[in-house]
Amino acid sequence: MAEFVYVNGEFIPKEQATISLFDHGYLYGDGLFEGVRVYDGKVFELLPHVERLLSGARALGFPLGDLDETKAFEAIVATCRKNDHRDGYIRVNLTRGTGLGLDPKHIEPKVNFVIATRQLALYPPELYEKGLDMITCSTRVPSPDAIDARIKCTGKYINNILAKMEANRVGAGEGIMLNQQGHVAEATGDNVFILNSDGVFVTPHPSAGCLKGITRGVAIKLLREQFGCVVVEENMTLLDIYSAKECFLTGTAAEIIPAVSLDERLIGDGKPGPNTAKLIEAFRAYTKSTGTPISS
Ligand code: PMP
Repeated sequence: MAEFVYVNGEFIPKEQATISLFDHGYLYGDGLFEGVRVYDGKVFELLPHVERLLSGARALGFPLGDLDETKAFEAIVATCRKNDHRDGYIRVNLTRGTGLGLDPKHIEPKVNFVIATRQLALYPPELYEKGLDMITCSTRVPSPDAIDARIKCTGKYINNILAKMEANRVGAGEGIMLNQQGHVAEATGDNVFILNSDGVFVTPHPSAGCLKGITRGVAIKLLREQFGCVVVEENMTLLDIYSAKECFLTGTAAEIIPAVSLDERLIGDGKPGPNTAKLIEAFRAYTKSTGTPISS
């Protein structure tokens, strides 16, 4: 079956889909993106993804015209329907528009909005049983007075790519990024949680420099509502991870994955913890019980 890409309101065959060389996202990283999952014909947590995208666009002053949450939501569902994309990944890109030169006054005041469906390159299934080994990266997250981490903008991802290269260099599954104060912000492409020795789940607040991840939100909700756990958003340091009972990462692509060591210190007993295993099971059940159907 032919695969189509949604480009500014039109479905273009994948091989012919193009964007200008003068797209501001391409030239300057002046864009936003979302990675969304489809499970069994239903788009997972689509509204929060669309809201994060559009709120980022408003914060960056993109010329949205009549593009709003409803239109973006419908375009994403329509793209999945067109490609009969029932399982996998959706990449949504929104850039400021087209034109050379930094000054937004000199570019055509019309965003570029692209939606593509893809299969996913996931962590191998055995890593969900064994857990990830992590390192601390020397690359820090940008300070919020430069760019607020809640804005999922393409430009800032150069940091995450450099941090991921550090993890790759030593064969680690993920890398922990700190902020300027030395507090844990997030992993290079995922949010981080620990279960501490008081039995409290802790994850950094977005003001520490992490993305307000959609999967993070689902994990908090399941922990609180399904398991009655205490979850707090507060600063943590490397010591909190080294001395945690359990640790896991959350993200659209990775879902929920245990982390079992950091900088060669075992977390807990160095095996995925029982609470993490229960949460993974609950998350998998939740992905099946919710979502926006792609068929009308
Ligand atoms: N942090 C970063 C830096 C990310 O890129 C992502 C998404 N891949 C996440 C956290 C997780 O966010 P979400 O659960 O919304 O995918």
